[in-house]
Amino acid sequence: MVIVLAADATESDVEAIVDRVVNAGGEAFVSRGVSRVIVGLVGDVDRFETLNFGAMPGVHSVTRISAKYKLVSLEHRQERSTVYVRGVPIGPDTVTLIAGPCAVETPEQTLEAARMAQAAGATLLRGGAFKPRSSPYAFQGLGELGLRILADVRDETGLPVVTEVVSAQDVEMVARYADMLQIGTRNMQNFGLLQAVGEAGKPVLLKRGMSASIEEWLMAAEYVAQRGNLDIVLCERGIRTFETATRNTLDISAVPVVQGLSHLPVMIDPSHSGGRRDLVLPLSRAAIAVGADGVLVDVHPHPEQALCDGPQALVADDLRILQRSLEDLAGVLGRGVPSWRSRRAA
Ligand code: PEP
Ligand code: MN
Repeated sequence: MVIVLAADATESDVEAIVDRVVNAGGEAFVSRGVSRVIVGLVGDVDRFETLNFGAMPGVHSVTRISAKYKLVSLEHRQERSTVYVRGVPIGPDTVTLIAGPCAVETPEQTLEAARMAQAAGATLLRGGAFKPRSSPYAFQGLGELGLRILADVRDETGLPVVTEVVSAQDVEMVARYADMLQIGTRNMQNFGLLQAVGEAGKPVLLKRGMSASIEEWLMAAEYVAQRGNLDIVLCERGIRTFETATRNTLDISAVPVVQGLSHLPVMIDPSHSGGRRDLVLPLSRAAIAVGADGVLVDVHPHPEQALCDGPQALVADDLRILQRSLEDLAGVLGRGVPSWRSRRAA
């Protein structure tokens, strides 16, 4: 159930609603939008319906949400959300480029990749310190050392850092270094991890499970939101199909489908979907044309030496072409591209 407050509702109106929900054994999640306050109710909806929230002071409307996911549903917020990562926006008014190495390997490689990303207009740096590899013999990432490298590179370049966390017990540590916590495809239904990142106080980039339906993906987002964190960005990264010509099949239709169901921003990862450098540009163009809020791409100063996913990593020239293309498309579609000038205090 969702309660939308009137424009002139007061703080004590909000408190009275929250008290009534809590006294009924439920949980209330308060979202303060630009134009209105919305309270999401989680608990026994039949019980809530007996409590007559509609008659309380300051209440504009009460809606029973039919979707299985509530807080992340479009019914809950009714306008598309913008998530800020240290002041960098990801949302409907911008096209955000997140770029960086698949894995943090050395301080030099990470800094070089970050400089490439920044030169091409990326406003967030990606890089994995914990790598969830299919093979236990493959490079697993540098762990906390990798996080320290990322934090140093952020200090050096000013680029906020997006990095993956793979286990619930690491969340607190990763959140100390990172500006945004990434949940990878293999962990999309690791519910303990989702709850832990929901409590970590950092925005979350939630990749779609490679075999997950859109409903399962949104339910995974709900696990994060239900812990009080609505700063979630969804990322489509390709799904498993019979096709072997690409690493995964990019489900381009996921973008408008999700936008019809959820207020959360949605991005595309053309690197992990195609798995091939030559596909990153066309898939990125498709992503922006279909309405994605940005793209997340792998870059590497020396892809042939990369310890992880070299074949899909862009080099400096590719990145420049990509950014130009994103700018052109953003212009045609009436969206801005974030720059340092568009940052606002986090
Ligand atoms: C990544 O972005 O580094 C990654 C491992 O992606 P995915 O979880 O989509 O495979
Ligand atoms: Mn990778």
